[in-house]
Amino acid sequence: MEKLTCKTCGCQSLQPMQVVLDDEDDDLSLLGGEQESRFYSCQVCGDNWLSVKEKTTDGACTITFVHQMGTAPVLKRIAHMDNAIVVETDNVDEWEYYVDEERVDESDWREELSDRRDLLRATCTN
Ligand SMILES: [Zn+2]
Repeated sequence: MEKLTCKTCGCQSLQPMQVVLDDEDDDLSLLGGEQESRFYSCQVCGDNWLSVKEKTTDGACTITFVHQMGTAPVLKRIAHMDNAIVVETDNVDEWEYYVDEERVDESDWREELSDRRDLLRATCTN
């Protein structure tokens, strides 16, 4: 499996894992969407994120990214795309940024994420 470069520590150590979610989330099957989840985790500094791709009935899709699972508050962003086939950042119609369940500005969100990455970086160079 291909490895990606970690944005936090710069090592080529990010490995995506397919995640199988349990069936308790009935909402998704009701939408008729398909779901695909991946969990990316850095083996060096511990940075991680979860991506959940959901197709919607009109051929569009959303991808939800949850960064650094297990830390509070939850840093989450949602990409809205009008095309579920070509999933690239260029195709994102709109990004939504959340800290916990509260919608925030992109700049606030990025600041929060960058603070956390600084912290991880500091921990892993020690
Ligand atoms: Zn890393």
